[in-house]
Amino acid sequence: MCGIIGYIGQNDVAKKILHNLKKLEYRGYDSSGICLKKNNTLFVKKSVGEISNLQSKININFNSHVGIAHTRWATHGKVNVTNTHPHISQDKMWAVVHNGIIENYLEITKQLKEKGIHLYSETDSEVIANLMAISQKQNNALKLHEVTTLLHGSYALCLINAKEETLYIARRHSPLYVAHKDDACMVSSDPACFSEDFHDYYVLPDECIATVNSDGVTFYDQNMKILHLTPCEIGTFEKSSELGKYSYYAEKEISEIPHVLNDIILNYQTVDHFKHINKSFLKHIKSIKLIGCGTAYHACMIGAKYLEKFTKIEANAYIASEFRYQNPMVDKNTLCIFLSQSGETADTLLSLELAKSKGAKTLAIVNVPYSSIARNADIVLPLCAGIEIAVMSTKAYNAMLMVLYLLSVHIANINNDFSLTFPSEVKYINFFKNIEKIDEISDLVLKSDKTFFIGRGEDYVTALEAGLKLKEITYINCVSLPSGELKHGTISLIDKKSLVFVISTDEKLLSKNLTSASEIKARGGKIVLVTNLDVQDNKDVDYIYKIDRPKEEISSILSVIPFQVLAYKTCLKKGYSPDKPRNLAKSVTVE
Ligand code: GLU
Repeated sequence: MCGIIGYIGQNDVAKKILHNLKKLEYRGYDSSGICLKKNNTLFVKKSVGEISNLQSKININFNSHVGIAHTRWATHGKVNVTNTHPHISQDKMWAVVHNGIIENYLEITKQLKEKGIHLYSETDSEVIANLMAISQKQNNALKLHEVTTLLHGSYALCLINAKEETLYIARRHSPLYVAHKDDACMVSSDPACFSEDFHDYYVLPDECIATVNSDGVTFYDQNMKILHLTPCEIGTFEKSSELGKYSYYAEKEISEIPHVLNDIILNYQTVDHFKHINKSFLKHIKSIKLIGCGTAYHACMIGAKYLEKFTKIEANAYIASEFRYQNPMVDKNTLCIFLSQSGETADTLLSLELAKSKGAKTLAIVNVPYSSIARNADIVLPLCAGIEIAVMSTKAYNAMLMVLYLLSVHIANINNDFSLTFPSEVKYINFFKNIEKIDEISDLVLKSDKTFFIGRGEDYVTALEAGLKLKEITYINCVSLPSGELKHGTISLIDKKSLVFVISTDEKLLSKNLTSASEIKARGGKIVLVTNLDVQDNKDVDYIYKIDRPKEEISSILSVIPFQVLAYKTCLKKGYSPDKPRNLAKSVTVE
């Protein structure tokens, strides 16, 4: 979601900026723009849609030594050229790009209007450039500091002034990074951009500002005291984003699932990620709360089931945007676990802050090691899934389930002094058993008017995740629900044009699920049973899709895969882009 690039260099500044802006494309955006400074003037180009539209408006050899650019994911104001960033102050001296939301922008707009300043866009961001322009402070760093004290909400900011070759940056809650070498400096909202040209980079600390120019980077804290920071090395995570032989990242990332799961087990066997989760850490823990959004929330639901089953500690899953506003029962005896692929999900990050303020112990499970959630939690468990580019999360979900499984085994062993073991046989599992049949099943989806996913227990969570995948990239309106809930309302929708996926991987619940299948069949619906159990042909089931059956209780990690593939194949058949679904962004950095 939304991206920032700032660049200072001797040559090819426009080229470098556009090249790096394109690396942020996968995060989702609806428009993009660039501002380059030349001869004490700010030159702006903007366009709606793909970055290639912007590219076609720019003279790549434009001789400038500093510029800023943005990919916007609109929160305030329509998607149009006027609302696209960068925004320029009325006096034409300042340009700003902004990720996030300025909550008090209407109030500031009113004050600016009273001072005779006209705002052109409907965004919450344009005020920032104008606040810089009217600040009376004696230097630009002090001006930026003053402006940040006036803003409520969240922001990553990068500004330039028409008279200087300096980038001014600031952040609250939204991430921002900066890298520096002899002949160039770069600011980015994603450190993956640094991997080609820099060896290391700095994380701009929350609530801090910095000035970036050929002399180096100067960081200031909230009181304008200079900070001395240690740079982070660019790791393999930031480097590994090549598409290789695949047509789409979604396809590549699904195919990586077996490898990722194997890597997680090996990594957790060789590195003691659990070393701080010991008897004393767990001593007073009475309950566990797992918090996430979207797919990560589904992983929380499975995690709560693993934790209760293995550890006998009460565990519940919460949607982060709900958790924050329900005055959650959290205290020093609560362990709060935060799940986020990007580690930047705004609602999850703010839930983490809330839990910390109530004294909870906090644990983060994230894929991006340098993310804000990773930096703020007491303990971090890495997902080890490798960078995930497709907006639809696939391998990160399977990885979340595996890490949660390992964590549950670890806590159970500490508390009960008996020996549950990590899964051993992942490499013998056929993750893609019968996957070629998904093609046929995807035709069934396309022929139906209505698609449903049902299951009980963990299979219900798989039903939720299956439905989310299908909605996300095929735009098919589908319904997921617990099998037992069908007859409490939704069964009234079932007719001859309905297709129902019945997911059943728990022996104890098979007969219950087959009863639901009969009820659907009696109303004319078509049934696809997805199972790893020995099911004989059943007159109520139109299609049995068999998945492999692992020895350990990790069937949910497998049973979701056919649905990830189903969404992907159906999306291609409908002619949509599986990697960049409409209206969605990869990391949701606004509330
Ligand atoms: N709130 C700003 C806008 O709507 C920035 C959105 C973003 O983070 O891209 O323009």
